Amino acid sequence: MNFCRYNDGRYGLVKNGDVYDISDLVADRSPRPAQRGDAFVRALPAIVAELTQHPPSAPSCSVEDAVFLSPVLNPTKLVAAPVNYEAHLAEARSNVELNFSKAVERIEKAGLFLKASSSLVGPGEGVATRFPERRCDHEIELAVVIGTTCSYVSEADALDYVAGYAIGLDMSIRGPEDRSFRKSPDTFSVLGPWMVTADAFGDPSNVSFTLRVNGELRQQSDTSKLVFSVPKLISWASEWYTLHPGDVIYTGTPDGVGPVTDGDVMDCIMDGIGTMAVKVRSFQTAALA
Ligand code: MN
Repeated sequence: MNFCRYNDGRYGLVKNGDVYDISDLVADRSPRPAQRGDAFVRALPAIVAELTQHPPSAPSCSVEDAVFLSPVLNPTKLVAAPVNYEAHLAEARSNVELNFSKAVERIEKAGLFLKASSSLVGPGEGVATRFPERRCDHEIELAVVIGTTCSYVSEADALDYVAGYAIGLDMSIRGPEDRSFRKSPDTFSVLGPWMVTADAFGDPSNVSFTLRVNGELRQQSDTSKLVFSVPKLISWASEWYTLHPGDVIYTGTPDGVGPVTDGDVMDCIMDGIGTMAVKVRSFQTAALA
């Protein structure tokens, strides 16, 4: 099943080009008392069971008419993998505009990094640039949404803890500062257009994707080229942090990263998920025009 948040924060089931409003169902499943993590993702197994028994009958709107927000509202953290494709490592090492004359370590030495959860948006909100004089790049990545609280998960069991998958954009200001600082402004973590549940998505190890800017092909790769696989990333992240429902792992970007500026449109396509168009705007411009 494909789940979204849309318009004014409603929850939706996406099916055959339509969005069905399931907000009441999600509200009924919210935990009391509150627990860490995302209430919707925590309740997902119960919601899926309910929707399997009682499919919604009347759509709320078509996919074309919905404004998609991040399918996850309250992750405790966004974990991200740096330089997790050899071709991106090579371009980062060879381009001073990317490395700022600092050594680019391989992922096993660099470790993972965290992005502020307040940077998370959906495609309908767009990406807002704050520093027009600085280079701001797109990074398309397969994003993994954790479904169950876990710690010290083995690689063999790792995929059992996944709620679903979505297209991720790890937006990045280039410069000498730490990754977390440069990649955490509001809107710099895009997730969408919806989350495909893990059972529907299947194997994450051979997923093709492309990113175009204003129609020009910039990034094209597939997850078979990941240096650290999805299970390895989950296992590694869970050794360092307890993962909670709704936590997102951005799995890394391939080569072809490049700058975007106000007015650009990033068209993202990923196998098994769908497409999303993300507009770039200045920080002064309203999010939902
Ligand atoms: Mn990245």
